[in-house]
Amino acid sequence: MLTDLNVAVLGGDARQLEVIRKLSELDAKLSLVGFDQLTQNFIGATKMEISELDFSEIDAIILPVPGTNLSGEIETIFSNEKIILEEEMLTKTPEHCLVFSGISNRYLDEAIINSKRKLIKLFERDDVAIYNSIPTVEGTIMMVIQHTDITIHGSNVIVIGLGRVGMSVARAFSCLGAQVRVGARKSEDIARIAEMGLKPFYTANIEHEVDDVDIVINTAPSLVVTASVISKMPLHTLIVDLASKPGGTDFRYAEKRGIKALLAPGLPGIVAPKTAGQIVANVISRLLKEELLHGKEKS
Ligand code: NAP
Repeated sequence: MLTDLNVAVLGGDARQLEVIRKLSELDAKLSLVGFDQLTQNFIGATKMEISELDFSEIDAIILPVPGTNLSGEIETIFSNEKIILEEEMLTKTPEHCLVFSGISNRYLDEAIINSKRKLIKLFERDDVAIYNSIPTVEGTIMMVIQHTDITIHGSNVIVIGLGRVGMSVARAFSCLGAQVRVGARKSEDIARIAEMGLKPFYTANIEHEVDDVDIVINTAPSLVVTASVISKMPLHTLIVDLASKPGGTDFRYAEKRGIKALLAPGLPGIVAPKTAGQIVANVISRLLKEELLHGKEKS
């Protein structure tokens, strides 16, 4: 339980509701900023404006996945209120106060350094990335079905990258009956791909792999699906680029050649916002227990 913990939830989207639900169930005392249009109420939660928040009492601040923008503004879909996180607000918090976000930027990093607080970037954690790969895979399957006229079963699929997303994608497409080849650049990854019963190749050699490919799924956040690679693909090939913007595909050249190439960011939040929220909520509640409650017990 998180009884006696004061947690401020500042803005967010549907995923944040799962965080609020979970922390409410765990008996935390919640201050919700940027939720005035939310009709739902949660036990132990009070809606307020940021000016009403007593930062000196706050044990943890939960920001939305993007954190803030470069001016400190926090997005919320449940209010028209403008919410700005200022460095002085963080400075007012107790020293042990934890700040959670999905990712960060220069503004948030600087505010955290200057206020000497701890920022936990959830999307950099392996556990969150691996859990998130599950809805990402489901969203990828959905996109492939929507944008092809062949079954995944029996199709030739190339997955680039054997990271947290690539491994899940490769396994799922193989389980659906596709012939899956996986590009990696480390010899241990090549060995793992072979162990998984899939066909490995070094990503640097991708040009020699694509002449019979139906579907290319890229997870490498770097330009790997170059114009030269695209020029060797059959015209019916579908490219789904999962890597963060701008992706790893030469989209301009793909369009010129008439090959369908889709950049597909943020699939977990799109196809399964509830699950995506639960993933974040579970990790936040565990970290709050480990870092704040167990810390209190020790001191
Ligand atoms: P990851 O675990 O770091 O895996 C990245 C993979 O790309 C690794 O195999 C890495 O190889 C490879 N790679 C990186 N740079 C490369 C380069 N220059 N050339 C060749 N290979 C390269 O990352 P992840 O968690 O799987 O996420 C992959 C991408 O998907 C990220 O951009 C992430 O933001 C994005 N993502 C998108 C969604 C979505 O909904 N579309 C969801 C989750 C994540 P090494 O191990 O050798 O470095």
